[in-house]
Order: sequence, then structure tokens, then C-alpha cells
Amino acid sequence: LVRRRVKLEKLLEEGVLLIQPALRQHQIELSQKGGQVDAYKVEVDSDQIKQVILNILLNAIDAQGEGGRILLERIQKEGFVGFAVSDEGQGISPDVLPYIYDPFFTTKEKGTGLGLSVVHRILDQHGGKISVSNRNGRGARVEILLPRCEEGP
Ligand code: ADP
Ligand code: MG
Repeated sequence: LVRRRVKLEKLLEEGVLLIQPALRQHQIELSQKGGQVDAYKVEVDSDQIKQVILNILLNAIDAQGEGGRILLERIQKEGFVGFAVSDEGQGISPDVLPYIYDPFFTTKEKGTGLGLSVVHRILDQHGGKISVSNRNGRGARVEILLPRCEEGP
């Protein structure tokens, strides 16, 4: 595990670049919000956190289907910095919710069920947090937080 201080914003931008083809393919618009966390750094294994970003965005794309809009917000809370991804899919039903972090649990025909279990492990290793909720109306919202570095280079 190689941990370096890096701007979360840089990792988000790289993650977004990597999923552009999938967004285009499904004609999904990605709307982004919250530049105010631009400067915040996290001390992380960049590849692992990029994996987290990708797994969350890919789940949103799977849920979204064709068209519509996924929202990627930057967020900050008491010593943490992170992001939230909201989609316009079916949301996560309450009877499935307890199992979504289990390895190999999937509700998809061709799912691996590994995405969120990997996310959970990586966040554990980084002192991070995940919370999943359903939006009023339609879709799911997944929030990821990482401990933020003290100010300084
Ligand atoms: P996979 O994507 O291969 O199914 P994951 O571990 O990434 O595996 O996700 C596990 C399950 O959590 C999914 O099969 C799905 O039921 C649920 N899930 C995750 N993200 C979303 C989402 N954005 N909307 C609806 N359900 C979701
Ligand atoms: Mg997945």
C-alpha cells in the first residue's frame, strides 16, 4: 500500500475521464457540483481510491440504464472530504440493503457482486466511510468520505 498526499479533486477528475466512454455509450449526462473542496488533500493509495470512484460511478451507470443524468457532488464534513453520486435508477430495495457489501452479492444478471465489497475494504483501510440511501423520488445516492489532511503542502 503506497499512501501519498493528493488532492481528491485530481482523483475524481481521473475517474471521470475513465468512465466517459461508458457515459457516452449510454447517453448519460454527468453533472458535477461543488468545486469548493478543490484544495483538500487526502493521504491515500491513489489507485485504490480511483477504484472506489470507478466502482461507485459504474454502479450508478448500471442503475441508470439509458439517458438521463448522474450527479457527482463534492462534499466536506467535519474533518472529512469526499463525494456523492446520485442516479435516477430504481434505488436499492430495503430487503437487499443489508447484503450489498457482501462479496459476490449481486442483483444483476451479469454482476460480479465484488464492487461494493472492494469499496468497503478500501475505505476501512483508509479510515473512510460509505453511506447509501434512496433519493426521494427516484434512484440511489452513495456518499463516500475520507479523512482529510491538515492544511499544508
Ligand atoms: P455488482 O455491481 O457486480 O452487482 P456491487 O458490489 O457493485 O456488485 O453492487 C452490489 C449490489 O448493490 C448491486 O447488484 C445492486 O443490487 C446494489 N447497488 C449498488 N449500487 C446501486 C445503485 N446505484 N442503484 C441500485 N442498486 C445498487
Ligand atoms: Mg458494481
